[in-house]
Amino acid sequence: MKIKTDIAVVGGGASGLSAAIAAKTESPSINVVIAERLERVASKILATGGGRCNLGNKNLCERFYHGSIDAMKIIKNTPDAVDFFADMGVLTASDSEGRIYPASYSAATVSNALRLKCASLGVREICGFNADSITGHSEAFEIFSGNDSISCRRLIICAGGYAAPRFGTDGSIIRLFRERGYKIAKITPAAAPLKVDPGVLKGLKGIRVKGSVRAFSDKKLLGEEQGEIQFTDNSLSGICVFNMAHFLAEHDGKLRICLDLLPDMSNEQLMKYLEDIRRSRGDFSLEEFLTGAFVKNLALYIVKRTLKRPLSEKISALSHNDLFLIARNIKCLEFHVQGSSPWQNAQATRGGIHASCINDELGSSLEKGIFFAGEILDTVGDCGGYNLQWAWSSGTAAGRNCARSLKGERR
Ligand SMILES: Cc1cc2nc3c(=O)[nH]c(=O)nc-3n(C[C@H](O)[C@H](O)[C@H](O)COP(=O)(O)OP(=O)(O)OC[C@H]3O[C@@H](n4cnc5c(N)ncnc54)[C@H](O)[C@@H]3O)c2cc1C
Repeated sequence: MKIKTDIAVVGGGASGLSAAIAAKTESPSINVVIAERLERVASKILATGGGRCNLGNKNLCERFYHGSIDAMKIIKNTPDAVDFFADMGVLTASDSEGRIYPASYSAATVSNALRLKCASLGVREICGFNADSITGHSEAFEIFSGNDSISCRRLIICAGGYAAPRFGTDGSIIRLFRERGYKIAKITPAAAPLKVDPGVLKGLKGIRVKGSVRAFSDKKLLGEEQGEIQFTDNSLSGICVFNMAHFLAEHDGKLRICLDLLPDMSNEQLMKYLEDIRRSRGDFSLEEFLTGAFVKNLALYIVKRTLKRPLSEKISALSHNDLFLIARNIKCLEFHVQGSSPWQNAQATRGGIHASCINDELGSSLEKGIFFAGEILDTVGDCGGYNLQWAWSSGTAAGRNCARSLKGERR
């Protein structure tokens, strides 16, 4: 198979579909082809938001994005998720935290709308095309998938990062651009569980608790977030934990997590509560000390980890210092992070093509005719719809600017 087109978009995910739509909308007469290695486009979209697709957030600002690229500069100049999808006939709804979903709460609504829009504009999808090399420069590029090839005048690279490789994203295109001389910002899993010593987690597996997560590097507080914390046999998980994962790259893997398991209580209130329990449950064993505050296994874990004494002892035997130490662990249960979980468990990629290789149009500053969008670029958003908003916005900007760069040029 040998195909010729004006614009080839590599990767048919969220940013690739947006880029193709924007390019065709800007210049309806040009030919746009999406080259996707999987058997269908939009595979990852179907899995987002637990199948409900959290496609954006009403509260968009700089602090939710991390990396060398100024994501908000692009986002401010493109439609927000509500308008972007309204244009495709998709109704949206939002929750109390500003997270935007399709009103159907089905990710299929989103992928379907994008595919219909592409079809109505005449974008051609070529699936099963695994771009394994790119040759050429400025006006004439050729991308290869084994013996098949697509030649084009412009390239938009939307091949994602390394996260969740089951959806076709294994970073192979990033490696290709590293070989072409592009600077690649340090790559680590983001929006991912954090690995901690399994020995320290013993007894916690399967527990979920509402609390606050604080991330520290040495003594410096890096970030804090409240939400549901989940414990596995070797990691801390939950969205509030995911949002701390990007700090690993920034702080050379030295990260300490402190969980506040009763964030709505002050230290004084907690000490008073513990003293009351010592008085009212004094005749019972230590096993019952915290069962009024936490599920049984978590209650036992805190007492065991703090006191390292037989649980058969009576609650009345607890000293003031014992109560103080227990309160301290409830307000700051400490875990030293050993790393982030494997790519299979990550939802996004920290790092990628560095801002120094990209101009304001999301075009390459090293090679004329190449544009980039989505997770392949060095920016990552927090959980809450920020990554998909980036994908729609950067795809729209790259597609539009790419098509504009062709206008007026002779074919
Ligand atoms: C389980 C899960 C849930 C998530 N939930 C949310 C959520 O609710 N809200 C949110 O904002 N974000 C969410 N994300 C993150 C979000 O899905 C991604 O950040 C976003 O999809 C990135 O878009 P993209 O177009 O850059 O890359 P992708 O969507 O990853 O698309 C890249 C495409 O490129 C293709 N490709 C890669 N290499 C090649 C190649 N060599 N040749 C041809 N094609 C290639 C891939 O097959 C893939 O289809 C979630 C991620 C995961 C894994």
